[in-house]
Amino acid sequence: MGNTDTVLVVGGGIVGLSTAYYLLRAGMPVEVVERSTVASGASLGNAGWVCLSHSAPVASPGVVRHALRSLGRPDSPVYLRPVANLVPWLLGFWRNSTQSRFERGYLAVANLNRDTFELFEELRESGVDTGLSRPGMVHAFLSPARARHHLDVQRMMAGGRYEVPADVTLGDEARDLDPSLAASVGAAYLVPGEGVVEPAALARSLRDRVQALGGKVRENVEVSGFQRSHGMVTGLRTNQGDLACGAVVIAAGMWSPGLLRRIDRPLPVQAGKGYSFTVDLDPAPAHTLYFGDHNLVASPMNGTTRIAGTMELSGNNNRLDWRRVVALARASRHYLGNWFTHADELPGLIRDPWVGGRPLLPDTLPVIDRIPGHGNAFLNTGHGMLGVTLGPASGRAVAEFVHTGQRPGVLEPFRFDR
Ligand SMILES: Cc1cc2nc3c(=O)[nH]c(=O)nc-3n(C[C@H](O)[C@H](O)[C@H](O)COP(=O)(O)OP(=O)(O)OC[C@H]3O[C@@H](n4cnc5c(N)ncnc54)[C@H](O)[C@@H]3O)c2cc1C
Repeated sequence: MGNTDTVLVVGGGIVGLSTAYYLLRAGMPVEVVERSTVASGASLGNAGWVCLSHSAPVASPGVVRHALRSLGRPDSPVYLRPVANLVPWLLGFWRNSTQSRFERGYLAVANLNRDTFELFEELRESGVDTGLSRPGMVHAFLSPARARHHLDVQRMMAGGRYEVPADVTLGDEARDLDPSLAASVGAAYLVPGEGVVEPAALARSLRDRVQALGGKVRENVEVSGFQRSHGMVTGLRTNQGDLACGAVVIAAGMWSPGLLRRIDRPLPVQAGKGYSFTVDLDPAPAHTLYFGDHNLVASPMNGTTRIAGTMELSGNNNRLDWRRVVALARASRHYLGNWFTHADELPGLIRDPWVGGRPLLPDTLPVIDRIPGHGNAFLNTGHGMLGVTLGPASGRAVAEFVHTGQRPGVLEPFRFDR
């Protein structure tokens, strides 16, 4: 089956579908191979932010100390459960948490992210129903000191790429920035123009556009291996038979390492598991909300509110731990008020409790590159907290790489062997 010119894209999440779209726009025949349905991985229940003001790598000064303090406590924002390969990954993460690497990583991501809103606009003009709205993002804090610190770091890193206010807003005026904020919010600031989408709807619309442009999307087809000849991938083995190809792009999120092992290229990806659920709040948030002291977020979505957050390193799986849903709901009350009293009310109040794995390398930057030793095999994954935001930009860049054979400069920091 298949065609020896076809570029096969493994993974029907936001990243794989964006890649497929830009490959088609470059005039290449494309098939997406997805083992389940599109947007069934991390692209399903995430917070949907499309933003410039959160380009920071997760690996940052002080974060390891913070993570170790919460070791083994399932109700804390960061939760580590010892699993295979976690220790070497954590050592790499710790080595990457220096100020200089953090700044370098931030600039690399900000550079990749530079055209994001233009790309979303182009997608819309070319018929993708992105659903993007740009209400702006309110950063809310319980402590004014933390708010000021966050804004100072943000101003330094923004480098004029997006607008940040001169100072934080305090007390009652802070709460006026968004109607949903509770009395305990002590300080806040607004970054205007930041956006939000319903991520699964975006993925489905990308799929439709890929098909309209002549691409094929094969759902319920699982890739199990590669056919290779003289350093080139000539086809994929799947549960539905073999597929021939001229090139392949692996965009399988947290499952990418399993595929790379088949071609002897280990990739240290851990799933940074995050949780979300939907709830009707009154008043509902009018902006995307970042709750800075607890690292959780809320997004207005389809007339309801999606609350998301937490970071759990407990293996590359989608096992949902209800205690973490409760912890997320409890933490949200600091910012959104007492929208429930007891945890046993939650099953009746919330919808779609969900867990997804953010694909994280130890430096928490994406890897977007040709796979070493394989002339026609590429990788586009590791987008961590930012796969929705960076999907179009990284899809466009990797498509250019596949099409021209030349690595675009913007991808230099995202090499496989960095
Ligand atoms: C709680 C939470 C909130 C988040 N909020 C945001 C946000 O607000 N903004 C943002 O930009 N990002 C956010 N993210 C991150 C974002 O969700 C991810 O970075 C992004 O979805 C990754 O997309 P992907 O396409 O790489 O992976 P996925 O969406 O996981 O897609 C990978 C696909 O590959 C398929 N696959 C795997 N193995 C195979 C195989 N062998 N054969 C065929 N198919 C295979 C899977 O079925 C899956 O569909 C959040 C993540 C979480 C967990």
